[in-house]
Amino acid sequence: MPKVISRSAVSSSTDAQPTASSATALRVYYCICGEFVLVIDKTLASLPQRKTDGAIIIRSQDADGEKARIFKLNAKPSDPVLVERSQGGHERQYRFRCPRCTLFIGYQSSPPPVKSAPFLYILKGALTQAQGQIPPEAFDGDEGPVSSA
Ligand SMILES: [Zn+2]
Repeated sequence: MPKVISRSAVSSSTDAQPTASSATALRVYYCICGEFVLVIDKTLASLPQRKTDGAIIIRSQDADGEKARIFKLNAKPSDPVLVERSQGGHERQYRFRCPRCTLFIGYQSSPPPVKSAPFLYILKGALTQAQGQIPPEAFDGDEGPVSSA
């Protein structure tokens, strides 16, 4: 007698695929003030950086065969700023700020909402994975305390 697999058994086994657990591998990032700012499917450290300012590049639209990152930004849009680039030319940045302390945390090249531009840029050292901790990159370029003193 052939083995009968009921439809409900089949569908419940496909539901149990590990997609649920991989979807939960989301990273949460906070502003240095402790406010939740970003949730994303990859660590910021693993994403590429811009040559111009070292900002982390988050792809927000599918293009050129590349998939957009899955993320949600919790930030307040602020007025666009025209930034002069050393190699000549200007760049308009639509900036996002922390909703609590208004720290400038990122920008994109077109007006809000988030993801209206192909990329979202997160300022280097602006966010941390541990709530209430300052990211190690936050003081890049500053003289650190001399531990051997
Ligand atoms: Zn903040």
